[in-house]
Amino acid sequence: QGGLNNASSERRPIPNPNGKFVDSFARRQRIAQHRKSLPIASVERRLMEEVRKNDTLIIVGETGSGKTTQIPQFLFNAGFCREGKTIGVTQPRRVAAVTVAKRVAEECAVDLGQKVGYSIRFDDVTSGSTRIKYMTDGLLLREALLDPYLARYSVIIVDEAHERTVHTDVLLGLLKNVQIARSKSIGCQNTENNKPKNGMLLEKENGIQNSSFLKHDRGRMFPPLKLIIMSASLDARVFSDYFGGAKAVHVQGRQFPVDIFYTHHPEPDYLDATLITVFQIHLEEGPGDVLVFLTGQEEIESVERLIKERVQQLPENSRKLVTVPIFSSLPSEQQMRVFAPTPAGYRKVILATNIAETSVTIPGIKYVIDPGLVKARSYDPKKGLESLIIVPISKAQALQRSGRAGREGPGKCFRLYPESEFEKLEDSTKPEIKRCNLANVILQLKALGVDDIIGFDFIEKPSRSAIIKSLEQLFLLGALTDECKLSDPVGRQMSRLPLDPIYSKALILANEFKCLEEMLITVSMLSVESIFYAPRDKLDEARAAMKCFSSPEGDHLTLINVYRASNEFMEKRNLSFGKEKADKILRKWCKENFINSRSLRHARDIHSQIRRHVEQMGLHIASCGDDVLLFRRCLAASFFLNAALKQPEGTYRALASGQAVQIHPSSLLFQTKPECIIYNELVQTNHKYIRNVSRIDYLWLTELAPQFYSLQS
Ligand code: ADP
Ligand code: MG
Repeated sequence: QGGLNNASSERRPIPNPNGKFVDSFARRQRIAQHRKSLPIASVERRLMEEVRKNDTLIIVGETGSGKTTQIPQFLFNAGFCREGKTIGVTQPRRVAAVTVAKRVAEECAVDLGQKVGYSIRFDDVTSGSTRIKYMTDGLLLREALLDPYLARYSVIIVDEAHERTVHTDVLLGLLKNVQIARSKSIGCQNTENNKPKNGMLLEKENGIQNSSFLKHDRGRMFPPLKLIIMSASLDARVFSDYFGGAKAVHVQGRQFPVDIFYTHHPEPDYLDATLITVFQIHLEEGPGDVLVFLTGQEEIESVERLIKERVQQLPENSRKLVTVPIFSSLPSEQQMRVFAPTPAGYRKVILATNIAETSVTIPGIKYVIDPGLVKARSYDPKKGLESLIIVPISKAQALQRSGRAGREGPGKCFRLYPESEFEKLEDSTKPEIKRCNLANVILQLKALGVDDIIGFDFIEKPSRSAIIKSLEQLFLLGALTDECKLSDPVGRQMSRLPLDPIYSKALILANEFKCLEEMLITVSMLSVESIFYAPRDKLDEARAAMKCFSSPEGDHLTLINVYRASNEFMEKRNLSFGKEKADKILRKWCKENFINSRSLRHARDIHSQIRRHVEQMGLHIASCGDDVLLFRRCLAASFFLNAALKQPEGTYRALASGQAVQIHPSSLLFQTKPECIIYNELVQTNHKYIRNVSRIDYLWLTELAPQFYSLQS
């Protein structure tokens, strides 16, 4: 087994972010002191006793008390990694998994990927010696496909359970089953208090008694699986009830008073109001960093640009303001920048998505600006329509957000809406499973051998109509047979790809259409937000640059052109120099061409990962060359569920749902408005906008997707 205590790395100096070496002793002392000062430090022994006594334990503690970074280390020290076992910690968000793993590796004075590592989709930094593994909840679900008993784990911590993402909810159901299955394996001793009371019954209800999931290693010995559910919300009851009355413990946090300010009237433009508030704080308030909650990458990047511009207009001595963004698709080497200490005399403004609400705790925050909005998934099962919409947060979220200002001393929170609006907010957020398309998780469950989805023991049941609609969709994509079983090979192949079912199917189809090279690029580029950017003051230049890449057929081929142009550019320069220099050159090219370099680099990473997956599956990566007709037909065959027809007044009617939609102004087809199109994303603001649009021929739909369109016409 790889060294639990890597002595050589224990004593090595740790490079600081500037690449210089600092005195490891002083640094380690500072870290040790910080660890000791966390509220959770004083209850280590008691917590470990509870874990020993209970197979399932719920830990509730305020954000910032040290749950995520400390408890895995406590478990490691208490011997839960003996015999090479691993502690798995799941996070709903990629950024949290990465930044926390980096922090804990530093606290343990080990290289990331050794004793402490992380694994997220498209990025695995673990090794045989990894004992504390941070990962996304979705990733652990995928691991269960290969290792149904999750045998390598002694403890699994489901962190941020209050977020109630669809993956967390499904994972809880799965873990409950794994726990029961492991407790039944010969030689296992369950602790008394937590013996599953109605194991048999559950198993039957879940319809997994015949599945590969349980049959596998009957008779093998498994130690019981310890399960820890961690949550920042005080309401532990749902989790406790779900796990047969499991014990919940509370960890006291530390919170200073936070003054809350509201606006007098609703703000017509919350981004503008945000900007004004940032500068008001900067010019009128005492020292302390500012945390701003925005809804996504595009918003963050545009606010960042505006702040930088306006800072330049301030008098020389007021310009000491730096901005740092944090959102999930930010390249991981940039994510840690939020934790870097603010330079002396400066004020830091952190522009964050919801990620900073509870998942990551950034030191130094004294002011919070909260426009009160969040980008959320929404699903209408009747129409089979999933969209992203910006919606008001819940009261619980507003409280979490303001709490971020009072971690180290008294703080202030500026809510950019009137107090009367606060009163109207929902108490808490509806679990995602109640408002998202379930096709993805149903495919996962089917691949795990759970056939009776409606009977599955969900912590909160999704509506029957949502389940049925999603099953129908999987059937239309060819992933399920007439008997609603996973089809072979298509369904099985789809379940292996870490993508939305509709994208997985597109890759499989592209193999048949002999344009897999093009579809691989398309899927990678569609997996990131906003490839193009157009600063307000350079709109014309940006449009001209975009023209160089544009294809009259639409956005998909345009994205392919961008990708290929970046490739050609990089190939022309000799790539023998290191990654850092290559990155710099690519960034420059992006800037000249008004391409978002963060997004493009992310897409390139994703591309190489998916490429590996499809190669492993034995698919053939061929290009259709100049025959773009072939590729467009493949788009129609893949995305037929997202087809739309032009209406006399210039809007479109989505064929599957009957909804009226409009092409987003950022699309190349916004002006030309072809008769029939397919699209990949529906975003709901004041309009229902579709993005990533390509022109197709209406007749292709009946020809290539008769399973759907012959019934319709
Ligand atoms: P919880 O999970 O209870 O919300 P965490 O374990 O995430 O708390 O954080 C505990 C403390 O560690 C916080 O004070 C936070 O500021 C600090 N911390 C976490 N990550 C980092 C980091 N990368 N750099 C510096 N401090 C960090
Ligand atoms: Mg945490």
